[in-house]
Amino acid sequence: MEIRSFNPPVRTLMGPGPSDVHPRILEAISRPTIGHLDPLFVGMMEEVKKLLQYAFQTDNTLTMPVSAPGSAGMETCFANLVEPGDKVIVCQNGVFGGRMKENVERCGGVAVMVEDEWGTAVDPQKLEDALKANPDSKLVAFVHAETSTGAQSDAKTLVGLAHKYNCLTIVDAVTSLGGTPLKVDVWGIDAIYSGTQKCLSCTPGISPVSFNEHAQEKIRNRKTKVQSWFMDLNLVMGYWGSGAKRSYHHTAPVNALYALHEALLMLREEGLENAWNRHLRNHQALKAGLEAMGLSFIVPEADRLPQLNAVSIPQGVDDALVRGRLLNEYNLEIGAGLGALAGKVWRIGLMGHASRPENILLCVAALEAVLSDLGADIRTGVALSAVQKELGPRS
Ligand SMILES: *Cc1c(COP(=O)(O)O)cnc(C)c1O
Repeated sequence: MEIRSFNPPVRTLMGPGPSDVHPRILEAISRPTIGHLDPLFVGMMEEVKKLLQYAFQTDNTLTMPVSAPGSAGMETCFANLVEPGDKVIVCQNGVFGGRMKENVERCGGVAVMVEDEWGTAVDPQKLEDALKANPDSKLVAFVHAETSTGAQSDAKTLVGLAHKYNCLTIVDAVTSLGGTPLKVDVWGIDAIYSGTQKCLSCTPGISPVSFNEHAQEKIRNRKTKVQSWFMDLNLVMGYWGSGAKRSYHHTAPVNALYALHEALLMLREEGLENAWNRHLRNHQALKAGLEAMGLSFIVPEADRLPQLNAVSIPQGVDDALVRGRLLNEYNLEIGAGLGALAGKVWRIGLMGHASRPENILLCVAALEAVLSDLGADIRTGVALSAVQKELGPRS
């Protein structure tokens, strides 16, 4: 077999992540590699932390990128905050809540599950019932934006309830950061993690995290060592901490952090609120097109995530065949269903740089072409004008 340089095609990424990466970010990642202890690099690290504080809307000093994907940010939160024997209430309404349970148990904690139907938001009443029934709980964990279903939960209310019963909170904001309102300090979130490849539209592989004073205090007062050497924040902070001596902990992914710096800078240039509004507007345009075609959303309107649109696959349509044709004929990627929703839904992402009118038009046109070619029961000839009407005149 002859192996040559790998040259991927240019795709349009409208799945659950990674999303389209802006050319500015791709250019940033190819800049010259310098040492991870180089004073110039250390200066850039400080800027990344500041920009992350803006994105998370927090003054938390312990705000930094973990050198690994979103799942590692998740593990960092659980490994540091859960001690053996700790009871943790985990709200699950999709795939990622299930991973939280795994994390709690692997840290030696006891997970109390609060289950909601997939495609709905976490029910605050069920959380409060669980908090009342388990007064010895230490933590509450939930997913703000469930990428597996497209449902958004009311993070502010859930955090408020956790605090009322003296619990700290761990929030998964992998898909919400940069795409939908998220206010770490105002809502009082104690520990939060995210990812770079969803609404930040950066290359995958980095996980921003942030911990407030209460979370830091719990970490400082642990009776046992954090079981993961790599994720032990007491050690990581020797490298990332403000005023730290910048001693060697691990080799930071230097170029990937150039990319994150650029992505966060672009978010600040656009303005957080403008980014949130853009995601919402574009969701409404996509929705108009998909519904005109006859497709229906699985999440009740009030709980829908603008950046992740889960729609039912029409009766008798072959899920993988449609996604394969979109990829091969239109260079367009949309997401399959996960877990209980596999084969039942498509997940169409409008995340970060992918959340643009031209992508909506491509997606709706391509989906209509493929579905009508396969003889699916959809309305044709109306979806594009529904999108255009919703988008309005473009200046
Ligand atoms: C994508 C995602 C993750 C995992 O992130 P990776 O970067 O794939 O490890 C965790 N939680 C949610 C809600 C996600 O959407």
